Amino acid sequence: MIAVTSGRAKTILGQFSAEGEGSFRFSTVYFHDPTWPVEEALNVIRHEYAHYMDHELYGGTGHGSTWKKCCAGIGAVPQRCYSSRVAKLLQGKHKEETRLSVQCGGYRPGDRIKHPSFGDGVIEEIRGESVHRLAVLRFGKAGTKTLSLAWVHKNCRKSP
Ligand SMILES: [Zn+2]
Repeated sequence: MIAVTSGRAKTILGQFSAEGEGSFRFSTVYFHDPTWPVEEALNVIRHEYAHYMDHELYGGTGHGSTWKKCCAGIGAVPQRCYSSRVAKLLQGKHKEETRLSVQCGGYRPGDRIKHPSFGDGVIEEIRGESVHRLAVLRFGKAGTKTLSLAWVHKNCRKSP
């Protein structure tokens, strides 16, 4: 059994130890912080998981070529340390998604919009959640179309 534990370490976000049967440790300081981007948390988990894979498959330790190969296989950013540049990038992406999600929340069935090529349309239904919401729209000539609400927000004008 591989143990997964957590601690309140501020300097170590995550750690894989190959000792014994192997164990993972993650810092609750970050993992319990609601402002910490989910994308970054996933990257930390993948980074540590790549260490485990590397150890199991290639007997590797550290951040060498076999570890990088494991990173590529599971989508971890193949960087030695969790860099502040990547962290900023993910933070920015997260902020943008949050902003867009809030804006998408401003649409209701019955709202009217003007599509650049289909013209005037009415929102009949909104499906899904956050930035993945879809709007079912009814247009005069074009009929019913299902479009990403985030796309509608960026590309269509809201009619009064
Ligand atoms: Zn590492």
